[in-house]
Amino acid sequence: MQDSASYFAGLDIGGTTVKSVLVDAAGDPVGEMVEVRSHVKDGWQATFAQLESALDQLVASADVDRSQIAGIGLDVPAPSSEGVIWAQANLGPGWVGTNIRDLLSERFGGLPVYMTNDGNAAALGEYAVRKKHFGSLLLVAPGTGLGGGFVLPGGRAWEGANGLALEVGHISVPHREEDGSLPQCSCGKLGCLEAWVSLVALRRRVGLELAKPENASHPLNDGSPVEEKAFRLREFAERDDPLAVSVFRQQGNILGYGLADLVRVFDPGLVVIGGGLAETGFRDRYLDWVLEGFRERAWPVYLNSPLDPEVVTTHFEWARGGDSAAALGVAFSARDRFS
Ligand SMILES: [Zn+2]
Repeated sequence: MQDSASYFAGLDIGGTTVKSVLVDAAGDPVGEMVEVRSHVKDGWQATFAQLESALDQLVASADVDRSQIAGIGLDVPAPSSEGVIWAQANLGPGWVGTNIRDLLSERFGGLPVYMTNDGNAAALGEYAVRKKHFGSLLLVAPGTGLGGGFVLPGGRAWEGANGLALEVGHISVPHREEDGSLPQCSCGKLGCLEAWVSLVALRRRVGLELAKPENASHPLNDGSPVEEKAFRLREFAERDDPLAVSVFRQQGNILGYGLADLVRVFDPGLVVIGGGLAETGFRDRYLDWVLEGFRERAWPVYLNSPLDPEVVTTHFEWARGGDSAAALGVAFSARDRFS
């Protein structure tokens, strides 16, 4: 007798929405990706109600029975250990100190739940979409902050002893402002990689550059809010505007410095760059700027074999998983662990 097929759900809780997918026993997505609001500011109970709704829509879209779901993968935008959230980050009250993993398992009738943070989930997703890649994979994803994750050969994320590994945004980089100071990071420390390469960093940099006398007549000095200027800077970079190019070039170079250290530590063989820049028209040039910084800091052996220069030791690629990478990553992990 053939057992009824098993499916695994991936639920990616973000600051604004929950993105969710269903995969089959082979790890292939079935049905449509479902997106609902996350309501994380209203407490975890409000989010759980949204997860229920997402799960119902997923099984309906894939035309499977909810009883066929054999495991859940879940990711949260905050550090956690063994299912317990450790810091509020962008979440609302009530999350910190709560065992979200076990409560969700209870809510879903005892289904096993794998839980990790959003950076690990996205790295797992990039691993999952590269079906022919069996080595390790390091992901860095510049966005509002700088997320990241490291997947070991075979497909498990390296989460550290306490679930606190791969906080790639908060490593130090050897770079200073023109006045010698270090920028303030969202974590409260000074000089973190994230404070140079995130969207928040971009806003700071745009403000500083546009205030310089030589940039007084730049078209972005039009009184618009800095958030808008930072957003529009991408179009300017696509059109080769020197100021926009110099800002993104600096960001790329500094991301390269950070990657040089990470690659020296992990020797991943494959570095994937995610985040919104993957969608821009100047991403090839951005990657060149990353490599420019990388070459400045890393030894040549981390790019090519000393015995055969044709052999690439570290491959750099843009993310391929798109919007559903994290959801796919935790679904993939749930399948790996619970099938
Ligand atoms: Zn920091």
